[in-house]
Amino acid sequence: MTAEPDGPEDRLRRFATIWSRAVFPVTATSLTRPEFEQRLVPLARRLSEALRARTFEAAEGQAVGAALIGAHCTEPEALSATLDCVDAYLVLYCGGDGAQDALRARSARLQHAMAAGFAKALRERTLAEQEAIARAALQAQGIVADALHATEARFRAVFEGAAIGISVADLDGNILQVNNALLRMFGGTEQSVRGRSVTDWTHPEDAPQVWRLYEELVRGDREHYHVEKAFYRPDGTVLWTNLTVSLLRGADGQPQYQLALMEDTTERRLLNLRLRYEATHDALTGLPNRTLFFERLDKALAAGEGMRFGLCYLDLDGFKTINDSLGHAAGDRLLVEVADRLQSCATAPGEMVARLGGDEFVALTTGPDTESEVDALADRIMNALITPVRIDGRELTVRGSIGIVEGPTGERGPAEVLRSADITMYRAKSAGGNRYELADAEADARAITRHGLTTALPAALDRGEFFIEYQPLVHLGDGSVHGAEALVRWLHPQHGVLGPDQFIPLAEHTGLIVPLGRWVLEQSVRQAKVWQERHSDAGPPVRINVNLSPCQLTHPGLVSDTVDILERVGLPPSSLCLEVTESALIGADDDLLKPLRRLAEMGVDIALDDFGTGYSNLANLRRLPVSILKLDRSFTQGMQQFPADPVDLKIVEGIVSLAHSLDLAVTVEGVETGAQAEQLRLLGCDTAQGWYYARPGPPDRLHELALVDATG
Ligand code: C2E
Ligand code: CA
Ligand code: CA
Repeated sequence: MTAEPDGPEDRLRRFATIWSRAVFPVTATSLTRPEFEQRLVPLARRLSEALRARTFEAAEGQAVGAALIGAHCTEPEALSATLDCVDAYLVLYCGGDGAQDALRARSARLQHAMAAGFAKALRERTLAEQEAIARAALQAQGIVADALHATEARFRAVFEGAAIGISVADLDGNILQVNNALLRMFGGTEQSVRGRSVTDWTHPEDAPQVWRLYEELVRGDREHYHVEKAFYRPDGTVLWTNLTVSLLRGADGQPQYQLALMEDTTERRLLNLRLRYEATHDALTGLPNRTLFFERLDKALAAGEGMRFGLCYLDLDGFKTINDSLGHAAGDRLLVEVADRLQSCATAPGEMVARLGGDEFVALTTGPDTESEVDALADRIMNALITPVRIDGRELTVRGSIGIVEGPTGERGPAEVLRSADITMYRAKSAGGNRYELADAEADARAITRHGLTTALPAALDRGEFFIEYQPLVHLGDGSVHGAEALVRWLHPQHGVLGPDQFIPLAEHTGLIVPLGRWVLEQSVRQAKVWQERHSDAGPPVRINVNLSPCQLTHPGLVSDTVDILERVGLPPSSLCLEVTESALIGADDDLLKPLRRLAEMGVDIALDDFGTGYSNLANLRRLPVSILKLDRSFTQGMQQFPADPVDLKIVEGIVSLAHSLDLAVTVEGVETGAQAEQLRLLGCDTAQGWYYARPGPPDRLHELALVDATG
């Protein structure tokens, strides 16, 4: 019997099991291991979903990191075991069939977010603990003060039994009493502490207010203070504490002693430092990671007037090939070597190198002179990559593409700067790679909209963001509505309504034009059917014109899709006109014309759009399965003034008579005035379209226009 293949839920559970095995030994939880595993399942699920979500949510990773603290995984080992486990198994068990590179990059970002969430939650917990200690300290002060006035024996008991370090000194700073907890903290004997002066314990990291507060207290101007303070132990190591010092007054109210209560925070501080390091450095190369880089970039961009920044965004050329052919281990070693070399390129103060993920690195330079420095930095990086990298006895050539952004601080945010650098890097790549390019605002803007729109297109069709406007086609003879042209628009969630010129070329480029065109065709044919049904008594049936892109012409499904739509909707083929631009048919061979010919034979009209702009051979018209010429708008424009341009008149007259002699109807586009309409009518044009009659609009508007004509 063969085992059933695992479902996603099984794999998720398996991941949670591995995770709990790795972390359980280092938790302080009172749960059993299976119970603990149950506790991790929802966290694993969140990670799994965040891994595959359409956009990256740092908050998800942070929440999981914070939840670890809630589950008593407060030891640094718990975090590193968790991160190791996520790194090794999350993509494997929860990645589904997504692209590996993208999943790995996402997993890395999730790990950083988890470490950050973990550190933050731990910090918050520590703060809460400190509050509690401060409260205890105040209580203790009361107890000790009472004790001083009461019997020596009772005082001793409190003093010795306390879990926090306590010492009593006189107002000159001479230490009189210390308890065992405090001695343990200092790791010394009583002699090493007692008899010494409080003021001996200065430390280079003392905050300036530490000793000011001390002076105020011993003068009697302050009852207590609370600081974080470091001490040297007798062996030279450093002890970090939360220190609360209180003034003890005698029965007469005169200041008499000072009482210090201290809590050892050394371990916690080390843990925090380590967590901070882990959260801000890349585990593979040891370079600062994205988080730290963005912190620095933030700071650099907020620097004062006269300061500038320069950024080199490096992406290795062909790294994927190396990874795929030599394996990930070799790829990793290459990255480590590259990281080392980059590090040596940016050693001056104000410079840093970071790894953003995958084979993407950044070098940052700050200061007043980055205009010249950033070029030198890019040169150093390119030079550093020249020497081949030796891995497993092979010499690997490393090349990279760099996008450079340089400018004054205070103008742009980090996200914008990085995006510009990214776009510029791609420009360097598409220019052949192994080079650097400088950012240019205009090129950025073009690429941003182009790139953004292109990637958003497929989802836009699924989400129904496209809609169609209809522009009436009018009989020049009697002004009646003859039909309408369907013109597609995109209601973009951020950019508002976009015209076809802004996205049809992109849709053609990506191939989305085929499904989009099919959608437009189906909608328009349905609309025509609705018009015809509502309007069956008002003259000849309304027709619908639909534009076809060159890509659709060569798509094998064109004829069958069109026939299918017409049949399903029940619209006669003679009510449909497909518009093909003249330029798409220049030099067309029989293969290209065959589908159009088939459609024409079935009764679908084919119009030659934008006629007169493509310089096609007029004699060629005879060969094309075309029944309508749509004269380009530029001819109509020549007729705007009165009298019209005589040359335009002659040309249009010539085209019209040629068309009619070939049995082709002539439609004119872009009619904006009554004078133009009249002129074109006199020249013998058959139908017209333009703002003079109506702008493209919703389908009901055509209905109104048609009704007005039918009744008036
Ligand atoms: P086109 O086929 O030449 O469409 C006519 C264009 O002229 C439309 O621009 C229309 O809004 C505009 N227009 C109409 N009357 C006037 C006027 O009196 N004055 C002026 N100045 N302009 C006028 P639009 O909607 O921006 O469409 C641009 C082009 O996009 C269309 O040119 C067509 O080639 C293409 N297109 C539109 N919808 C589709 C579609 O569904 N599929 C494909 N493949 N292309 C489409
Ligand atoms: Ca058209
Ligand atoms: Ca046109």
